[in-house]
Amino acid sequence: MGALSTVASSFISMPGASAFRIVNARIPVDLAPSLTPFAAHDRMADCEMLIEGGKIARLGPAGSIALGSGIPTADMKRGIILPRFVDIHTHLDKGHIWPRIQNDNGTVMGARTAIEFDRSRRWTADDVRQRMEFSLRSAYAHGTGAIRTHIDSYGNQTAISFPVFAEVREEWKDRITLQAAALFPTSIIAADEAQFRQIADHVEKFGGLMGGVTAPGGFMAKTIDLELDRLFQMASARGFEVDLHVDETTDGTVRSIEHIADAALRNKFRGRILLGHCCSLSYMSEEDTKRICGKLAEAGVSVVSLPMVNMYLQDRVDGRTPRFRGVAPLHELAEAGVDVMVSSDNTRDPYHAYGDLDMMEVFREATRILHFDHSHKPWLRQFGAAQAAQMGLKDHGTIAEGLPADLVLTRGRTFEELLSRPQSDRVVLVKGKQIDTTLPDYSELDHLHGPTVS
Ligand SMILES: [Zn+2]
Repeated sequence: MGALSTVASSFISMPGASAFRIVNARIPVDLAPSLTPFAAHDRMADCEMLIEGGKIARLGPAGSIALGSGIPTADMKRGIILPRFVDIHTHLDKGHIWPRIQNDNGTVMGARTAIEFDRSRRWTADDVRQRMEFSLRSAYAHGTGAIRTHIDSYGNQTAISFPVFAEVREEWKDRITLQAAALFPTSIIAADEAQFRQIADHVEKFGGLMGGVTAPGGFMAKTIDLELDRLFQMASARGFEVDLHVDETTDGTVRSIEHIADAALRNKFRGRILLGHCCSLSYMSEEDTKRICGKLAEAGVSVVSLPMVNMYLQDRVDGRTPRFRGVAPLHELAEAGVDVMVSSDNTRDPYHAYGDLDMMEVFREATRILHFDHSHKPWLRQFGAAQAAQMGLKDHGTIAEGLPADLVLTRGRTFEELLSRPQSDRVVLVKGKQIDTTLPDYSELDHLHGPTVS
């Protein structure tokens, strides 16, 4: 009997030396501005680079880096190199609970009910930590270098989850840069001032962002302007940036987005503001959409779309094929001057049964769903560079001399090849070193999904 054959998990092996060269690569110039003069018709440049001491020491067009014969060299055979990904909207505290709590009907309301049930019974510090770490191991193996997560901040959960997040952020700081925003219904700002203050105290103590979700459903809370004024005033007073969940519905009468833009302008808020989802903006009259896009641009507000979760939750009615797909109008927002981006959102929880924090999957799906192709706009920036700017991270999202060699190497030579396969054999470099891209096994979490404890 012959030996069992093995399948290589990566398409190429990088030299283990502290200095080596990568040649015959293609890099999208929108992610590597110094290569712009060498762009081909598809906005990619044939190029090579020298990696030294974990950094990109030199980057230039093909044939520009002549070195002695002693330096190890990896030949990309024209494969595309991307910077490690940045995922600005995730829920690490919710991830991977699907095996123990599902969404009964696949709707937003079904998700909310299921999460409340599970959170109140099972989200101990240990449970949250193990699921967060599992998610981070997956994201790291897929090639992600920075993540912002929302943290459910309801009642006692705030005091459980924030310290765990801070510990995990410290443990992971050399692999993934982490940020967190408190997530709570903004209605409590008017209804329960003490709880709002307690949340703000945790955000301040653990270095997070002010988050929140505005009133759900097809009605506007009467108190929304008051809530938003207090939210922005609190954020200004304590130096928080803002990241809100907004209008996750295809009901075009739901418009907290306009209230937020007005409140940001009214309160002269100076920090960064990011709004997630903004689905209903796609279901208003063109005149209203245009007016609101203009206000968002004026207020310096950015928008992140979560297309994979929108596909799962929006316009779901039992026995009926979905007509509305729920993505925010990113083309119109970008045209109005709003910074837009795309991210993962939920993974294997009642808001989204699937997903693995793989930004390559998000890139592939978003290109189809949002029609990023057949466009002259640099949409690739929406998967890293735009997020890095929003997160204030100078070392992420672009490829340039002097930056860490944090790269994702693929076998795809064109966007069509890149997006036609999942790129499961991609190579990930972190500070110039090839990492193990083996994904954690789901069975590692089985012990968390036994019978309910209470
Ligand atoms: Zn979310």
